[in-house]
Amino acid sequence: MMQETEILIAGGGIAGLSAAARLAADGHQIVIVDPAPAQNAQNNAPADDAATDLRTTAFLKPGIDTLTYADVWDDMQTSGAQLRVMRIVDAGGVERTARETADFNGAETSDGYFGWNITNIAAKAALLRKIATLDNVRLINDCRVTGYTPPTAAGPGPAIITLSDGQKFATSLVLAADGRNSTLRNLAGIRFNRWSYDQDALVFAVTHHTPHDNISTEIHRSGGPLTLVPMPDHNGKACSSVVWMVPHARATQLAAMDDAALARALTRDTMNLFGPVEIVTQRAVWPMVAQIAHRLTAPRLALVAETAHVVPPIGAQGLNMSLHDIETLAKQIDLAKLENKDIGSDELLHRWERRQLPKTIARVGGIDLLNRAAMAEPEFLRDLRYAGLCAINHIGPLRRLAIKAGIGK
Ligand SMILES: Cc1cc2nc3c(=O)[nH]c(=O)nc-3n(C[C@H](O)[C@H](O)[C@H](O)COP(=O)(O)OP(=O)(O)OC[C@H]3O[C@@H](n4cnc5c(N)ncnc54)[C@H](O)[C@@H]3O)c2cc1C
Repeated sequence: MMQETEILIAGGGIAGLSAAARLAADGHQIVIVDPAPAQNAQNNAPADDAATDLRTTAFLKPGIDTLTYADVWDDMQTSGAQLRVMRIVDAGGVERTARETADFNGAETSDGYFGWNITNIAAKAALLRKIATLDNVRLINDCRVTGYTPPTAAGPGPAIITLSDGQKFATSLVLAADGRNSTLRNLAGIRFNRWSYDQDALVFAVTHHTPHDNISTEIHRSGGPLTLVPMPDHNGKACSSVVWMVPHARATQLAAMDDAALARALTRDTMNLFGPVEIVTQRAVWPMVAQIAHRLTAPRLALVAETAHVVPPIGAQGLNMSLHDIETLAKQIDLAKLENKDIGSDELLHRWERRQLPKTIARVGGIDLLNRAAMAEPEFLRDLRYAGLCAINHIGPLRRLAIKAGIGK
């Protein structure tokens, strides 16, 4: 039997759940579909993620505004740490002391801070708690989207979505938030480019002797950036999440070390800025890739989040870009609804795509360049990176531009 919904969202990751909460706040009827087992959603503690997703997300101010509108932020924020300053340290090649330190202070923005760092598990749990309270959102677990039939050229009919358990939905708009290996993107015939870096990100949390003072520190040394992002204290000790981007061979070596050896290596590569560190979680290794879809729309279909773009974790851009996709689309949909227009029309989707795709291409390209600059081994490239940071740090207008670009405004 055919069921109906105004909007169908494929994918219940942080992006899909955020989209559901944000669009629900405008009163839309939403079905969201995800393969995760139902009991995890009811427990509000995704057990599968707990074992695998050790990442944290630095939510920047525009993304926080979206989550505040969705009435999720107050709950999410309780488990996070505020980010007051973004510090970039150039460590040259393999030097043991910093060559240049640039502080981008949240006090230089109108909000007084840059963002908040939250574990992905806590962020997802807060979103699931919110969604469980919403009458206009139906979460279907244990199921995936397997079919997409666009409307016929003859008229403005709905798109038909088929699920793996045989259910069928007629809908005005489909949001593909089903991740980097998206089924919907393939079903719609949308091509994408993916490229890999010879680089992995090691992810874990540490306690350290020196307080972080709510400063997020990104250390640039050959091989990739090493970032420590503030977290709430752990057992009374200052705590940070670590994203350590290194060439693949070094990642393999680091991942094989016991905790004590890994802690010593980290203390050395952080130039002892945090004093001795202690590893307090498991570690995960993320191969570094970037990806971009050639188009963001198909009839009654919009690609958002990692379905549209994947970037290396530099400057906390990935999920924040996704929240920007969701916010800009939600505004267009809301306007159409107020004017009694079709919320999934080609006209609306193409207008959104014309604005969103160039921004997405620019940001994926910019982060790619930053990562390649951060990875650079040759001395002249390291010096160029250092000169760039000095220029941004000491020339006022460049600083302000960097702050604006960094927080995605
Ligand atoms: C080390 C690291 C650190 C990061 N740090 C930051 C940060 O500080 N700030 C930031 O903004 N970003 C950060 N990111 C990026 C951020 O983590 C990701 O953008 C985000 O987690 C991806 O969420 P998503 O919902 O788009 O995708 P996913 O989490 O992959 O969700 C996709 C969902 O779709 C489901 N699915 C798959 N197929 C189907 C189907 N056919 N039908 C229905 N559902 C389906 C999947 O099961 C999954 O639940 C970081 C990334 C890494 C690797």
